[in-house]
Amino acid sequence: MAKKYTYFFGKGRAEGRAEQKNLLGGKGANLHEMTALKIPVPPGFTISTDTCIEYFKQGRRFPRGLWSEVETQVAKLERAMGKRFGDPKDPLLVSVRSGARISMPGMMDTVLNLGLNDKTVQGLIQRSQNPRFAYDSYRRLLQMFGDVVLGIKKIAFEGLLSDMKRQKKVTADTDLTADDLMNLVEQFKEVVRREAGRDFPQDPQEQLRMAIGAVFESWHNKRAIEYRRIYKVPDDWGTAVNIQAMVFGNLGDDSGTGVAFTRDPSMGERRIYGEFLQNAQGEDVVAGIRTPRPIADLKEAWPRVYREFERICRTLERHYRDMMDIEFTIENGTLYMLQCRVGKRTAHAAIKIAVDMAKERLIDRKVAVLRVEPWQLEQLLHPRIDPTLKVRKIAKGLAASPGAAVGKAVFTAEEAVEAAEQHEKVILVRPETSPEDIAGMVAAQGILTARGGLTSHAAVVARGMGKACVAGCTDIVVNDEDGYFQVANLTIRRGDSITIDGTTGDVIIGAVELTQPEELTGEFGSLIGWADSFRKIGVRTNADTPTDARVTRKFGAEGIGLCRTEHMFFEGDRIVAVREMILAENADERRKALAKLLPIQKQDFKAIFELMNGLPVIIRTLDPPLHEFLPRKDEEIRKVAENMGVSEDALKDKVRYLQEFNPMLGHRGCRLGISHPEITEMQARAIFEAACELKREGKRPFPEIMIPLVSDVKELRAQREIVERVGREVMKEYGVKVRYLVGTMIELPRAALVADQIAEAADFFSFGTNDLTQTTFGLSRDDAGRFLPLYLEKGILKTDPFAALDEEGVGALMRIGIEKGRRAKPQLEIGICGEHGGEPSSVELCHRLGLDYVSCSPYRVPIAKLAAAHAVLKGKVKIKEMGEK
Ligand code: PEP
Ligand code: MG
Repeated sequence: MAKKYTYFFGKGRAEGRAEQKNLLGGKGANLHEMTALKIPVPPGFTISTDTCIEYFKQGRRFPRGLWSEVETQVAKLERAMGKRFGDPKDPLLVSVRSGARISMPGMMDTVLNLGLNDKTVQGLIQRSQNPRFAYDSYRRLLQMFGDVVLGIKKIAFEGLLSDMKRQKKVTADTDLTADDLMNLVEQFKEVVRREAGRDFPQDPQEQLRMAIGAVFESWHNKRAIEYRRIYKVPDDWGTAVNIQAMVFGNLGDDSGTGVAFTRDPSMGERRIYGEFLQNAQGEDVVAGIRTPRPIADLKEAWPRVYREFERICRTLERHYRDMMDIEFTIENGTLYMLQCRVGKRTAHAAIKIAVDMAKERLIDRKVAVLRVEPWQLEQLLHPRIDPTLKVRKIAKGLAASPGAAVGKAVFTAEEAVEAAEQHEKVILVRPETSPEDIAGMVAAQGILTARGGLTSHAAVVARGMGKACVAGCTDIVVNDEDGYFQVANLTIRRGDSITIDGTTGDVIIGAVELTQPEELTGEFGSLIGWADSFRKIGVRTNADTPTDARVTRKFGAEGIGLCRTEHMFFEGDRIVAVREMILAENADERRKALAKLLPIQKQDFKAIFELMNGLPVIIRTLDPPLHEFLPRKDEEIRKVAENMGVSEDALKDKVRYLQEFNPMLGHRGCRLGISHPEITEMQARAIFEAACELKREGKRPFPEIMIPLVSDVKELRAQREIVERVGREVMKEYGVKVRYLVGTMIELPRAALVADQIAEAADFFSFGTNDLTQTTFGLSRDDAGRFLPLYLEKGILKTDPFAALDEEGVGALMRIGIEKGRRAKPQLEIGICGEHGGEPSSVELCHRLGLDYVSCSPYRVPIAKLAAAHAVLKGKVKIKEMGEK
């Protein structure tokens, strides 16, 4: 059978359906679906994504048979519209748009009003009785065709348009007359002749053929490639091409165009949210050139149209069972839908919409949980400005993407990228953003634009990235060339610190201190509660201090999976006692110094156990190499020596003595406790005394004592003996019994390989995947940053193994460790406490490996919980979002 390249939709019948996104692209598939739902959609046809791939396979040539199919479909379209392509009396005009599988905002190109030429423009004048409109449409075609198809720089056209406005002393495009526009058409044709070295094609068939080719080509333009690289979209998906009859929003004051969401994509409220422009065409709203009016005004201006619009929004939501993003046009009072897709939203809105829809019974709780991507929660867990804080607000724009951000003002994407490379925090300030700015937006903390609405490029992209964004801040005048912006008579220059609040739209001078994120209440709490009911794997947190433990409780962690005792050593003047311990000449002296540390540690542990009352708390014995606690620079050494009353030279000698070539593979972890058992003794005593005191007070401490960097069971046995002996002594002194466990980290490959032997002496295992990744790859966690980006760029590594667990290597060792450990001791408790414990794909792996829990930083607890629920539900729950009645 001959290959089918094109699929028709129109008049309530469609050859394709929403499920065929891979073939028809997202935009195409939904046009077919809406048509089948009897929603008013201008008829058209879609050229499949396969055709685009075929085009490149054949050396950038149309596959055989494509053009004749296009001709047949055009004829069908002519019949549906009762107009003919190229008819000088009443021409059919079409739009040509790209549409990949997933929406790539602003990445691909569009040509409108195709079919216009010197003759058909007269037909359009006849039909519309509106020469201004006809010439405006023609000059738009020349401009878009020139840019997208012929590769002529936009500025060549825009410059002439601005000149004309200046000459006529008007500010808005709409103030130009038919004659002005006719004049511009001639000028634009001249630009084409000069820049492209050819005349603008007058033959509509040739226009169409060239436009289709240009859409195919745009799949490989720089912006699209950059977008695919950032969002990891495969290059071989290709784009579909949608050819659709034009409807006009610029036919006069009873016409218009707009974009809307069926619910508020920023806060999630159940109300139609969007903007429209009267007497305007397609791209004007998204381009952010004219400032659009809120959709509520549509209700007042055209109540009948608005009612129909509301009805369509309801139909779409009920059908897709999701919040939809819609583009529409009103032509002489008649409403048409030009596009619909599942709407992008902030994390806050995603949660509210999912929970509300479950309550409205549009979806069930499992689907609601799956609707929120775990990494999205990062946004909610973003810092904000304390509302009680006195700040100096200098301007207000649109609250386009929530969260606050602080940084130095930069004015170009390149500056933002360079600054990020220097670890500088910046706010990207632009008149407006375009897809060329993507890399700069990724690099910046937040984005501030002077122009554009809530659906402008800056707003949509920032929301997707979860970055703070203030858009359409008309109070400011941006001079990106000279690197400053002005607001009233204030000038903010490149490098000046500013703060933006994407939740309120405020622009603030200076760097404001930001406060910590949302609590688990309201819809957020419900969603995480539902996730809790579905997940199988436990979620603990890494917490080093009582303050951390308090946050932990707020996020609902089920215990502490790692308390790095040494992180308390730098607080206050504790470091003095630590240094005395390190500098001690013999065990007796060391004991004296340790005696000073004992009450401090005990006090911390007591506070943590008390806060976690009844929940397990894993406390790890001292891990890092000792030199980390000593001063490095001469000046510091001098000061410390003076404070401690020791000689500067002696201190220098000690620092030098403790220096190691490979400290991460050196004298650290349990090796410290083996050579200085008194350290383990002191720590065990602090733990048990704290626990016994609480026990006496009727509290329920549950310590789990963890020995780090074990590679042989004998190391663990030696340390365990100390812990148990001290435990017995302390419990006897206090006359109470405390339940406790002794276990080990599995963070060296050998430990995983001999896990059966180690399990004999362990009550629990906790995978230290930071060190396990480091030692499995032989890749220093402190130095990898220098060359890892190159590995990622070259595709040698798909992801950073320190961020997402490497299943093939590190995961394989974990599998061995678990299998051997549990074979030797079936009741062995096994968890993970490396950074991976809060990363969604790693949580999923841990679930599959059968771990009892993951442990992650406090703010990532909700992320881990949601990821754990996804791990259970994914693949099992069919998201019924399409094709249902
Ligand atoms: C680990 O190695 O994964 C771990 C949790 O310990 P640290 O990061 O302190 O070495
Ligand atoms: Mg470690």
